[in-house]
Amino acid sequence: MNRLVGLVDKLRRERILQPGEFIELLNNPDEQSRKYLFAQAVEVRRQIYGDEVYIRGLIEFTNYCRNNCYYCGIRRDNSSLQRYRLTPEEITTCCDQGYALGIRSFVLQGGEDAANNDAYMVEIIRAIKSRFPDCAVTLSIGERSRDSYQTLFAAGADRYLLRHETANEAHYVSLHPSTMSWAHRRRCIEQLKEIGYQVGCGFMVGSPGQTWQHLADDLLYIRNLEPHMVGIGPFIPQHDTPFAHYPAGSVELTLILLAVIRLLLPDVLLPATTALGTLCANGRERGLLAGANVVMPNISPAYARENYLLYDNKLNSGSEAVEGYYELLRSIEGIGYHAVSARGDCKRL
Ligand code: SAM
Repeated sequence: MNRLVGLVDKLRRERILQPGEFIELLNNPDEQSRKYLFAQAVEVRRQIYGDEVYIRGLIEFTNYCRNNCYYCGIRRDNSSLQRYRLTPEEITTCCDQGYALGIRSFVLQGGEDAANNDAYMVEIIRAIKSRFPDCAVTLSIGERSRDSYQTLFAAGADRYLLRHETANEAHYVSLHPSTMSWAHRRRCIEQLKEIGYQVGCGFMVGSPGQTWQHLADDLLYIRNLEPHMVGIGPFIPQHDTPFAHYPAGSVELTLILLAVIRLLLPDVLLPATTALGTLCANGRERGLLAGANVVMPNISPAYARENYLLYDNKLNSGSEAVEGYYELLRSIEGIGYHAVSARGDCKRL
């Protein structure tokens, strides 16, 4: 039997591989093994989530950030960016529009903006939860104190996305200025889990300096953490960052990693990310066909979408988010899946 096909079987059966085995599987697998890996991931996903795709309405509500991550277009030192911050009314209007489209899960994402203090975030979370009690609210607003996470959870936030970025400390140091700490980020993720959030971690595929060993470390970290969600997407350079001249990550490797993560954690919520859709016209559909089960259409106002520029050529459906949304739904139906109007919680037993 083809050795890599055997490794896929082992991964499906045992939900873990040795680091060297992960690397063998990730590093340019032959056509037969790749197809087999995707087929296994899709089957496992289907057993748990059927043909359903969960929709998250993404609201990029501020692009102010106190951090200076070397890869990120909204880093503090990027002075070419027009900064914006949505008002609470603008945020609830996004939710109104999303709700009318059938969206029942909203993700509030932003830079680490000093204006996002606890009182302000509590006000926004309460406003959304009281208006839409049947919807889930996910936060993706970076590193905060345990008390703050606790306060926002008590206000009604259900989920929190905080990518770990890389499980290797030296690699983390090479991606971030010394004001940021690998250990602190991991501690934040642990605290979020302890508090009771549905937690998401994740990383960029092909970030500068990433090695096969780092990816194996990421997979082992994810397997041990058992998050409810994992967000991965290719690194894409942004022209006003220190990493402007590094090449983008590989679409193919991102798809392979999505499939491997599905087999590691069969019930995980796995988005086919915007970054994947940016590098490849049908990237999000290919992500779903590799084991992903979530898409996150952007429902922010046009002026926000134009300025939340984490990387170059970011996928943007133009002035009308609604048009892009219907197109996305059609493309999901086109590959045999079905977008559902639901909170879309993790089906973990
Ligand atoms: N500030 C919050 C945080 O730190 O989690 C949320 C916003 S942050 C911009 C969201 C994610 O965007 C990061 O975790 C990072 O993985 C991703 N990202 C940033 N720059 C990117 C780039 N150039 N290419 C691909 N993904 C990028």
